[in-house]
Amino acid sequence: MQVDQIDKEMVVKVKNLVRQLDGYTLYEHSVHQDGPNVLVIVRKGVDKYLWVIPGAAVETEFEGKEIKVGSDSIIECDLDHKNAEILRSKFEFTNAILIGKTDSYGFGDRLGNAGPAHLRAVKGTGFKPVLAQQSIREMERTKRTPEDVMDAASWAVFQEGYHDGFGADGDHLKTTDDIDYVIKAGYTMFTIDPSDFVVNEVAEMSMDDLEKKFKELPWKHLEDTPSELLKRVKNNSIELRTGYEISPDKEEILQGMVKYGRVISHTKLMAEYLRETYPDHPAELELSVDETDAPTTLFEHYLVASELDRLGIELVSLAPRFCGDFEKGIDFKGDLDQFRDEYVEHLAIADLFGGYKLSVHSGSDKFSVYEVVGSLNLGAVHVKTAGTSYLEALRTVAECAPNFFREIMAFSLKRFNEDKKTYHISADLDEIQDPGKAPEEELVNYLDDDNARQVLHVAYGSVLSGELPEAKDFKKRLMTVLEENEARHYQNLKKHFDKHLSPFA
Ligand SMILES: [Zn+2]
Repeated sequence: MQVDQIDKEMVVKVKNLVRQLDGYTLYEHSVHQDGPNVLVIVRKGVDKYLWVIPGAAVETEFEGKEIKVGSDSIIECDLDHKNAEILRSKFEFTNAILIGKTDSYGFGDRLGNAGPAHLRAVKGTGFKPVLAQQSIREMERTKRTPEDVMDAASWAVFQEGYHDGFGADGDHLKTTDDIDYVIKAGYTMFTIDPSDFVVNEVAEMSMDDLEKKFKELPWKHLEDTPSELLKRVKNNSIELRTGYEISPDKEEILQGMVKYGRVISHTKLMAEYLRETYPDHPAELELSVDETDAPTTLFEHYLVASELDRLGIELVSLAPRFCGDFEKGIDFKGDLDQFRDEYVEHLAIADLFGGYKLSVHSGSDKFSVYEVVGSLNLGAVHVKTAGTSYLEALRTVAECAPNFFREIMAFSLKRFNEDKKTYHISADLDEIQDPGKAPEEELVNYLDDDNARQVLHVAYGSVLSGELPEAKDFKKRLMTVLEENEARHYQNLKKHFDKHLSPFA
């Protein structure tokens, strides 16, 4: 790749130039050649800029203002959306790519400033980074757009000189409008969330009820009939490579189809929409059924996967609802042996239908699960994290701006009963010390306490949206603290993600 061939002399020249201007520092890996011009990212105070250093006459598509250095000129450009678009048109590696069925790691970055640290952590691990990854819900809560998220990823790979490719995941897409919303920003991975179509109550239904609901499924859209399905699934008793046998009786088949029939149909609708509306757009599909009440049984997984396969829908990954509890921001709670056994069987099912990855959602801080998956060393995995990066940002605040951290902690505690509603958590407020009374040097302990982590975790929207009067300026202040202490922020993130990634080594 041409982008790798920046010569050492050029870097020295750029360094000299930066030295002549007060208050600027250079991101050394950001030096890239653009025709006759050299592009670099620099920082001054809490702001970052793209510099265009002209090779001959001053000529560039990037928009910025000219500054003089002796007899030379530099164009100083904001890292805004317009310039990000120009960057992507010039440098292929700043665009999202397809990741495929290889190990990958989703680094949700709710603040838009963690990407460089994520790249430093993932480098050399064999995992492909999915840098842009925000669910529709997260974007609503943080008042960000898919473009904001993508721009942050493009600038991050440019700053770090990371040329190995990154993915962009439109996470938890529920409607075709959601697809339209993220695809325009260049997303390449589409996580379809059909959870609204799961019928959780099948275990309590009578056989008569099941028969009735089964007949009412959208058979035409499923390109199938009730009798065909019963015949096919019943006759296809399957032995997995592990020796496990899938041989459901009629009741199980009815339960499986009543629970997931409309999930299959909706997934087909979403996949077809994507294929027909954007035939030339590179796209890979994940299916997430992780937000159901009960764990996904092996038969349910098999049923959904085999039906999607029959309908010609290829998945790059599938997120089952695993056994145990995957609460936000803390380690796995549950039986790890059971998790291991089921994980191996889930993988064997994935193997039957193209070897898609198993996707671990709510992956933040599930260290014991990583140990299991890493030690198995079987198949490919995708892990999704998001909240844990926000918590590392808050660790940096606790270290560098203690009083502000106290404010955020107190505010998050006040918000807890409201903000916890859509989350799977178990924090006990009585176990959390009053942040007003905690000594400065003990504030970081909040970030190592499961109860406090969850309180902080679920309040991110209230802290960042700017909608609540007490928190109106929180986002701005938070970003300023992190920019002023960028090296510390990056270090905290890198250290934390080394812990996430090392169990797979
Ligand atoms: Zn999820």
